[in-house]
Amino acid sequence: MNYFNLNNTSEKVDLKTAILKSLGSQEGLYMPESLPQLSKKYFENIHQLTLQEIGYEVAKSMFQNDIDDRAIRDIVEEALNFEIPLRRLSKNLHVLELFHGPTLAFKDVGARFMAGLFAHFIAQEKKETTILVATSGDTGGAVASAFYKQVGITVVILYPKGKVSLLQEKQLTTLGENIIALEIDGNFDDCQAIVKRAFLDEDINKVRNLTSANSINFARLFPQSIYYHFAFAQLRANHKPVLISVPSGNFGNLTAGLIAKKMGLPIAHFIASTNENHIVPTYLETGIFEPQPTIYTISNAMDVSKPSNFPRMMHLYNQSAEALRKDISGWWCNDAINKKGILELLHKYQYQADPHGAIAYLAIEAFADKENYDCIFVETAHPAKFPESIEELTNEKVAIPTALAGLFEKPKKSITMSNKFESLKDYLLG
Ligand SMILES: *Cc1c(COP(=O)(O)O)cnc(C)c1O
Repeated sequence: MNYFNLNNTSEKVDLKTAILKSLGSQEGLYMPESLPQLSKKYFENIHQLTLQEIGYEVAKSMFQNDIDDRAIRDIVEEALNFEIPLRRLSKNLHVLELFHGPTLAFKDVGARFMAGLFAHFIAQEKKETTILVATSGDTGGAVASAFYKQVGITVVILYPKGKVSLLQEKQLTTLGENIIALEIDGNFDDCQAIVKRAFLDEDINKVRNLTSANSINFARLFPQSIYYHFAFAQLRANHKPVLISVPSGNFGNLTAGLIAKKMGLPIAHFIASTNENHIVPTYLETGIFEPQPTIYTISNAMDVSKPSNFPRMMHLYNQSAEALRKDISGWWCNDAINKKGILELLHKYQYQADPHGAIAYLAIEAFADKENYDCIFVETAHPAKFPESIEELTNEKVAIPTALAGLFEKPKKSITMSNKFESLKDYLLG
């Protein structure tokens, strides 16, 4: 399979280059030249398959000419070694829980799969690879955990000072070894912007083999399509058409769902749910894509003003807003409504959601035609990752899973840095 650059379509590379380089010229994202179709037989049997079996089928269809079968199987089994349950809350309302991985966010899926792909491809490389990653909270922890102590890899994480939760910060600053946390005096968009510049900088690229673990990297994005298949597999027989609401920031998660659909998974419709950073819902409404300054919310992992995967969405729909609207509706809300959603889930369904999943739930509630669907909202993080905003609402302590309780005692190790590109450059060259 060849991968081409969305900003320079004549630039074509193989899988290894696409994932190790992450971005092409002119900051272009890579996409596969075609999306394979899964067989009719696969979909007929999907309800009998385990998560790992589904992961293998989906990954094999995409990577079979680039990676041998045994390696694909190993990567899937290593990456998807936790449960991804679809829980039924009422007759046709479900929640897909993506937060049972080691760092309690859905990003574990992509990060762990990516770590497996990297280990496979860099085994022969002599030069150390530096993974440079900007995080609004959860990416950093997931990538740190997935690549911790991986030979040949250094992970450099940029995070916005004071804008991630305490647990998130502990997850990225306490591992040490090959994991370096840079605490940036700025917001997430600053972090993302200076990371992008670093990839284009010739001096840095002479000294370092740089790559990204953000969802601009196809290796992290694509594996996320697996859990849409698995969600579908867990639905009851005779279910209605499927509607999935995805809480979105950079739109990697939703794009993976769209890819699953384009590969044959029968999802009828998606909702792009956001907080007040509603650039994509507004685009769906007006046809105008206009990044705005970031607004800070209690769903901080979605505080993204320029969604990086938007070009991939447009590519999948031939640049047509009209075509996008057929498959995707947009919805957004502010913090006050989000909080009502958290309480409503608790009171109506005894379900403790986090601020991101609650937005996806509210979007379904607001969907006019919802009775005609089996509805799934995606829960992207464990509520314990955002105890501050939840405890204030419910007056109840959110229990921290025992595996993470010890984190709070570990000392934070980070390097503080300005939001100027030159600071990062000096650091990477030094
Ligand atoms: C990263 C993240 C999101 C947004 O996902 P995208 O793929 O960037 O749209 C939503 N919720 C949580 C908890 C996250 O960590």
